[in-house]
Amino acid sequence: MKYQVLLYYQYVRIDNPEAFAKVHLEMCRSLNLKGRILVAEEGINGTVSGTIQDTEKYMELMHADERFKDILFKIDASEGHAFKKMHVRPRPEIVSLKLEDDIDPLEITGNYLSPKEFKEALLDEDTIVIDARNDYEYDLGHFRGAVRPDIRVFSDLPQWIRDNKEQFMDKRIVTYCTGGIRCEKFSGWLLKEGFEDVSQLKDGIAKYSRDEETRGELWDGKMYVFDERISVPINHVNPTVVGKDWFDGTPCERYINCGNPECNRQILTSVENEDKYVRGCSAECRAHDRNRYIAENDLSEAEWEARLNALGETRQQTANV
Ligand SMILES: [Zn+2]
Repeated sequence: MKYQVLLYYQYVRIDNPEAFAKVHLEMCRSLNLKGRILVAEEGINGTVSGTIQDTEKYMELMHADERFKDILFKIDASEGHAFKKMHVRPRPEIVSLKLEDDIDPLEITGNYLSPKEFKEALLDEDTIVIDARNDYEYDLGHFRGAVRPDIRVFSDLPQWIRDNKEQFMDKRIVTYCTGGIRCEKFSGWLLKEGFEDVSQLKDGIAKYSRDEETRGELWDGKMYVFDERISVPINHVNPTVVGKDWFDGTPCERYINCGNPECNRQILTSVENEDKYVRGCSAECRAHDRNRYIAENDLSEAEWEARLNALGETRQQTANV
């Protein structure tokens, strides 16, 4: 393994994020890094990949900047780059919660738990552990017994909590996410919303996985990541598979996007079922005029129709619905 993937964030004041982004992009390019970095007045949030030498240099340069001297880099070994391009984008927020009344985690946020303390919370029956990620991330892997919010984007989480408030009020609440950044705001929001006992897993699942004492125990499945790797192992003690094939429910950890570009839903499925169902998550998506599977595999209209017929479906009945 000659490459590394770095996952990191820091809530810290950054004046003029546009100017910062330009200079930072040049620095990343000069180090041959690839990845995605968001910059806002509230801080920085990034995932980048590069050779060991280049990523070490990047961390050194970042730590030399007073604003980022304490930043924690979560490092994964990798066989190559995890991204195709390098982007540094100025944004209103470094994670998109889109609250009408924004949270500054430097002013209000939940108590920080170490991996060991978090593991104890997982085993405590009177504590509610809420997964602060999206449904498709949860479905690939999650902490045993954690609550699964029914959301496809992070900004829907506050409303989901409000809709399900009775379940959580007056309870000790602990939240977790991939690298810890989403929980910084989310746990702060929970406190502001009136929940009194709120804690968060410091530095997220990524840190918990590497911790000597926890080594990812009580995590089931794999962790979804937002780069070309798609998933990474977490539990180094007794790993299991929890992902289920979208079509037949058999154990599966292979993610694809639905072939219908207007749907694009992320589903878990085998190569075999992807072929059988022409990559469509529903009858409508399978028969959709722009289904990418059909073009990519050069299927004729007759071959397409035959695959649908085998499923008891047709092109005509469901096309363009
Ligand atoms: Zn679909």
